[in-house]
Amino acid sequence: IITILGATLGGALAIILILLQRNNLSLKTRLQQAIGHNRLTVEYQPIVDVTSGRPVAAEALVRWREKGESIPPDVFIPVAEKAGLINRLTLCVIDQVLKDMAAVLNANSGFHISVNISAADLFNRDFSAALALRLESAGVASQQVVLEITERSTANAAGAIEAIKRLRSSGHRIFIDDFGTGYSSLAYLGELNVDGIKIDRSFTQTIGTGSVSVSIVPQIIGMAHVHHLDIVVEGIETPAQRDYFAALVPKVDGQGWLFGRPASAASIREMLNSAPAHRSPPQRADLKSL
Ligand code: C2E
Ligand code: MG
Ligand code: MG
Ligand code: MG
Repeated sequence: IITILGATLGGALAIILILLQRNNLSLKTRLQQAIGHNRLTVEYQPIVDVTSGRPVAAEALVRWREKGESIPPDVFIPVAEKAGLINRLTLCVIDQVLKDMAAVLNANSGFHISVNISAADLFNRDFSAALALRLESAGVASQQVVLEITERSTANAAGAIEAIKRLRSSGHRIFIDDFGTGYSSLAYLGELNVDGIKIDRSFTQTIGTGSVSVSIVPQIIGMAHVHHLDIVVEGIETPAQRDYFAALVPKVDGQGWLFGRPASAASIREMLNSAPAHRSPPQRADLKSL
């Protein structure tokens, strides 16, 4: 009986594996076609100054809709990475971003766009050359395009330091995305020489829950200050989460559903037009008494 059961289970497993693989193959092929036919789109999520609510930037997030079905980037980005399609995908996103910046976002010179790049982009010299060429022909300053790299892509410290240096010398600012989830770069954050960190949403979501992981947030912030890094807090969904960070850090930017969901370039433009003008930060009691 055990043998029969084993064989049956094994057979079932094999069929599942084959189905998974076929599914995966077709996902890869479909993605290749979507990139080739320019069917990927980009949405933008505002990044705001937490104290004033003023939008300071937007993050470009790739979108893939097919036959009414929306496939999340967390599913297809890893497929693109494995299939060697990520350089092309990233450049497609950048082309779209540059079009949108020219048509919609360009009026605000202080405003910048954040673009996610993968390890294979970071370490590819052809990619940075292609990026520079595109910016030049679009007439967009590299200072307006922030590059978000994952903590994971800095695992090879020496290579990352070199690649970051190269991109920064061409004018880009570099942020470490999902900071705090990978641990590796905590140890050599100073040496990486980036411009800022984005504190991962998993920390934001534990605020007020009494979870231990929230207790390392002040440490992360202290470390960012030591290295003079800018901070963006991800995943702010509630006023309580916003207030926690506003009280902890004098100058902090935030991103999350409380401030706006990812949306079209046009709606970001609208948001910029109706945004409150720059306000001086509220007077703090301790400053007034000086
Ligand atoms: P990410 O770079 O950390 O982007 C933030 C993700 O968190 C986005 O998910 C965004 O929609 C979501 N988010 C923002 N605010 C909130 C919030 O308040 N609550 C919750 N629950 N979620 C929030 P999205 O668009 O599904 O993207 C997922 C990931 O896919 C991104 O995470 C990034 O790692 C990757 N990705 C997206 N676009 C690109 C791209 O163009 N290139 C590359 N290489 N990766 C990309
Ligand atoms: Mg990001
Ligand atoms: Mg992130
Ligand atoms: Mg994240």
